[in-house]
Amino acid sequence: MGEKIAFIGLGAMGGPMAQNIIKKGSKVSVFDIVTEKMDPVVKVGGTPGKTIKDTIENAEIIVTMLPSTENVKSVITDKDGILSMAKPNTIILDMSTIAPTGTDEVYKMCQEKNVKFIDAPVGRLVSHAISGDSLFMVGCDDEDAFKKVEPLLNAMGTTIIRCGKVGSGIRAKVVNNFQILSIAQITAEALTLAQKIGLDLETFKEVNAGTTANNGQFHINFMSKVLQNDIEPGFTIDLAHKDMGLAIETANSFRVGLPVGSSVQAVYGQARSGKFAKKDFSALLDYACEIAEVKPPRVKKD
Ligand code: NAD
Repeated sequence: MGEKIAFIGLGAMGGPMAQNIIKKGSKVSVFDIVTEKMDPVVKVGGTPGKTIKDTIENAEIIVTMLPSTENVKSVITDKDGILSMAKPNTIILDMSTIAPTGTDEVYKMCQEKNVKFIDAPVGRLVSHAISGDSLFMVGCDDEDAFKKVEPLLNAMGTTIIRCGKVGSGIRAKVVNNFQILSIAQITAEALTLAQKIGLDLETFKEVNAGTTANNGQFHINFMSKVLQNDIEPGFTIDLAHKDMGLAIETANSFRVGLPVGSSVQAVYGQARSGKFAKKDFSALLDYACEIAEVKPPRVKKD
């Protein structure tokens, strides 16, 4: 990994992902508008930038890991954004979860400047980003550009899935997140009902695991977060609400109805209007239990 790399957006995901690249031996300049977010990455060897301009100077690959479509558009296309100064053939690797139409728009603007663009949104949880076990959904049909970013992806994760041309990675991500976030809400409702009617969590977990109701939200996500009494993000309810919105917006533009998805988004919308907005999305369980007036279930500590 000889190329100079710039990494913009060092939050819950971007922070550990940048650290993993640095730990594998790359030179990385880093930038986040919240300067403290840079501290842990600088501690392991990242070079802090003051502006996007000085962060991306001489960088051959620029990684973006930002919250929303608007953030990505602004960092890449604003008058002092990446495209205003990136040299031809620089590669932008956008790993954020944004609207596919936003990806298409940014890609077009990159092509006009001879800058290469790859979408590689990230699957799995923050814990996987920390341990370097993420999954990437890659939209890229330029093999030379892919070869250049492949070592970075391998430094941050274990699974690379080539989804097709630019824009196909983000499309896969939006559809997949629709499923994840809807299953999380169904899991929250099921566990709230189980608790209200007096089922033992461990016994119900065993029953569930042995049937087709078995799912990763219960047995991996909730088991490592809310059921352990940990609702710090992780992936926030605010971001989950954004991602349900992306799925519904995308479905609407193709005249596909998502009736379950629309109800699930309404729940995320309500949950984010109060104290759960910045909590992990597994806190949907605590929100559902609060409404049902039942104590949220927790796993027994040995
Ligand atoms: P986060 O809010 O923790 O981090 C985003 C970071 O971007 C913040 O530190 C913020 O200060 C920074 N930022 C915002 N605007 C900026 C700008 N203009 N310039 C520089 N920095 C800027 O979010 P996250 O959880 O790390 O998620 C990032 C993206 O990855 C989102 O699109 C999210 O949907 C997606 N994602 C998150 C998870 C997860 O489990 N948290 C998993 C997969 C994908």
